[in-house]
Amino acid sequence: MTSFTVYQDRIDFDDRQGKRSASAEALPLSMFRTLLSEFSKYPYYFGAFERVFMQQTTDYESGFEDAYGFVLNGASGYDPDAEGHIRVVFKGDQMKRGDFDYMAMAAPDTSTAYKRGRRIAPEETYFKIERAFCKSDEDRPLEWFREQIERVVSVAERLDRATASLESWAASGMSMRAVCAQSIFCSRRYGEADVISHERLSGYAQKGWSLDEFKSRLTCRRCGSPAGRLVPMSRLRPAEAEGSPGGGSGR
Ligand SMILES: [Zn+2]
Repeated sequence: MTSFTVYQDRIDFDDRQGKRSASAEALPLSMFRTLLSEFSKYPYYFGAFERVFMQQTTDYESGFEDAYGFVLNGASGYDPDAEGHIRVVFKGDQMKRGDFDYMAMAAPDTSTAYKRGRRIAPEETYFKIERAFCKSDEDRPLEWFREQIERVVSVAERLDRATASLESWAASGMSMRAVCAQSIFCSRRYGEADVISHERLSGYAQKGWSLDEFKSRLTCRRCGSPAGRLVPMSRLRPAEAEGSPGGGSGR
């Protein structure tokens, strides 16, 4: 097993025999930020069809730390002990606004004894990527992680194109699930929402409806709220079947 930590300026390997470092260019830290942003657009799809799973944990006890664990080739669901595991760490700051990856409302964790009783209101907190810890059994782990992240990015790009319009969605062969906009409050769960086949989507596309027009006509069967997210529910057609050869991110 090889494990290493990617920083902005270098990669440190956890070798038993002394320290070994590699250039950050082999696997730039920015790729892990891209992995998180692309995965977050289609978490259901990546879990169901690409065996990529993610779990977020936070630690706001002394400072602000968000960690995102990824399994890139998991069997079923998230498992921190799985082969090909990544842990991407973002550090938050409530003062520095200049250079950050995302903003979230956060309050210090006051559950520990010495702070107990103090209520602190959440404030804008600016998170920036700090490091990514990787472990794998592969012979060439840097290349392997790079390829795996490129795979996620390329699938997300194809999903972006497929879900851009009702027409492209129907042509992609993917069915759609419309999630209730009140999903947090509505008693109807994600799994109960209607799945709309690509054949039906194709019929609506032929009427000349845009994706927004179509979405505005969908309402939750339980609470009557409008549709929130529209989620791809089945596999994309293979890339070769797509119209534009040479498109996508190479290969
Ligand atoms: Zn509802």
